[in-house]
Amino acid sequence: MPTGGGKTICYAVPALIKPKVTVVIFPLLALLLDQVERMRSQGLNVCFFMSDMDEAERENAMQKLLATPPEYNFLFATPETVLTPALFELLQKLSSESLINFFVIDEAHCIDTWDSHFRPSYSELSKLQTFGCPILAMTGTATRQTEQVILNSLRLSLEETKVIRKPSNRPNLLFHVVAKKADGKEAIVMPKDLESYVQESCRAGRDGNDAHCYIFFRFEDKTKHLSNISSLPDGDRKLVYLNGLNDMVKYCIIPVYRRQHIASYFGDGGAGINCAKSCDICSSGNLEHSIDFSDDAIQILNCLDSMQQLQPQVTTKLLVLTFSGSKSNAVISKGLENVNEYGKGKNKFSEKGLLKFIQCLIIENIVHEQLPSANENSTTPYLVRGINASRLTNSELTFLYYAK
Ligand SMILES: [Zn+2]
Repeated sequence: MPTGGGKTICYAVPALIKPKVTVVIFPLLALLLDQVERMRSQGLNVCFFMSDMDEAERENAMQKLLATPPEYNFLFATPETVLTPALFELLQKLSSESLINFFVIDEAHCIDTWDSHFRPSYSELSKLQTFGCPILAMTGTATRQTEQVILNSLRLSLEETKVIRKPSNRPNLLFHVVAKKADGKEAIVMPKDLESYVQESCRAGRDGNDAHCYIFFRFEDKTKHLSNISSLPDGDRKLVYLNGLNDMVKYCIIPVYRRQHIASYFGDGGAGINCAKSCDICSSGNLEHSIDFSDDAIQILNCLDSMQQLQPQVTTKLLVLTFSGSKSNAVISKGLENVNEYGKGKNKFSEKGLLKFIQCLIIENIVHEQLPSANENSTTPYLVRGINASRLTNSELTFLYYAK
């Protein structure tokens, strides 16, 4: 359910039906305190627990929770706090008196996005199953894959779990992507993935009025995110972040109706969504059409292969310079002007156009950005053949690219 779609009311109303305690788990203390404040201002009876809490205050809250009937309807805590022995014991006492209503895990996508090494408590929330109460996991941004991770991690069986999705499409949000000029100044940086972007954009237009959501995009922002990812320990998580980043770049550079793009990313159907001139692509009126660019893609792959004979670590920038026939020192000093494909893209692409083209090859897994290991000095990725490279060269795959 998108942010602003009414998640709070979904648990606050049923929580008030019985004189029991509803336990709400929030990922971040700041968000938790905001929510507690909001609910208290609505006259709701809320208490919360946090790690650095005054002992007397904690004791007082516990006593009130154990009163019959409990003096609080809601108990808020972070995953870490809820699993501490003291609070877990309190929940056991409440449970033995049948005084727990149900559990709510808000921002449940965090189960997927936080590394289990970094916040192991998220992967341990399935311990709440021991109380035999309903568990409601809610989020504003979950792909089908994230949905599966949440179900598995909380050990929610498919037979007993109802999955409800409210489409992410908010008609009053208007989407734009604007090329940002590299002026050396720090400005708004492209979000690291589409989940983050949708979370950010859904904060707009909550009053129902039209709201314009802009991304100022430049490739340097991708590089910035890539170097952050490179510094992470090696593992599956690194690849998840890399794929998330590539999907974000895809959203920025592929001329597909933005609203359809977001809907299909979250598994809410794509082509069926009417964009109705609500993004920069369809309102500009000059749509680009995709055509077969496989031959150019193969030439670039060959160029990469030839370059690697002379220089094993080829960066995107070096590939752009070589394929466009640059006489820069970076090319000449390594003898790359001697490869067969040197300058083959000169008359077809500008350097910028070539950079965009290679980014699309990366997105389609024809070229893969190999991130340096966390223990290497460099954070600049270098290029290798992607998993779809041989399918392209064997004509099993067509590479479509957009041209006006
Ligand atoms: Zn549109």
